Amino acid sequence: MFSLNKEQRETVLERTYQKEDRIVKTPLWHRLLYRAADRLAQEKLVMRPTDTLSLTNKKEWMLTEKGVDYAMRLLQIPSARKENIPVKSFEMQKEIKRIVETPCPDDYVPFEQTKPSNSRATKRTISVRTRGFRQAVIESYDYACGICGLKISAPNSLNWEVEAAHIVPHGLCGKDDIWNGIALCRLHHWAFDTGWFSISHEYRILVFSQFEHIPDDFGKMGGFDFFRKSLEPNKSVILPQNDSLRPHQNALEWHREHIFYR
Ligand SMILES: [Zn+2]
Repeated sequence: MFSLNKEQRETVLERTYQKEDRIVKTPLWHRLLYRAADRLAQEKLVMRPTDTLSLTNKKEWMLTEKGVDYAMRLLQIPSARKENIPVKSFEMQKEIKRIVETPCPDDYVPFEQTKPSNSRATKRTISVRTRGFRQAVIESYDYACGICGLKISAPNSLNWEVEAAHIVPHGLCGKDDIWNGIALCRLHHWAFDTGWFSISHEYRILVFSQFEHIPDDFGKMGGFDFFRKSLEPNKSVILPQNDSLRPHQNALEWHREHIFYR
């Protein structure tokens, strides 16, 4: 019959004691929450800390896309609002990692070349990709506008004013990737999309040639000439620290040719 020697018995006793002691030291409600989270993980509504460690370098429980949908149903939040809910699901975090870590191909084309299918799975993939793109872009620019540097969040510190702008617009099959994106405040996003300004090969601001003829009372905020002052010709654009996350020259060239009013 299998039996432990004295040394082994002492080791087992020591371990048991440590385990019991750890349980005693852990508040009861904490243990209950852990059990609940574990149950949610079994149902694939959250990912366990062991799964998120390799993704975020942090041990944390993280909602899955299924978990976000479930929580929204529980809180009676319409599913159409999912795009604007400031929650990073596990799948979205994976997409952000993919976006910022994929090396840029030499022959980069900023357009989607295939049309996505209309299936439910494809729609879910597109939703994760779109939200991943937005988050990856604004994080790369440290939540500030690349033109004026405006950085402001909502009082809940989760929603940021800055937006992830597509350089080749999404409606024209522009890709959801970091090289076709730039973080801009709402005003500069609008001005970029309508062609008031573009960005040069050297990442400097180019403005519409008739810029000086804007009526005097246009673009002012409380009397301050914000529009003109923030779009100073030749001023350097504020870019991500990591050079490989900058807008691609092919995307910028397309914007100068097709959107920008020279
Ligand atoms: Zn701005």
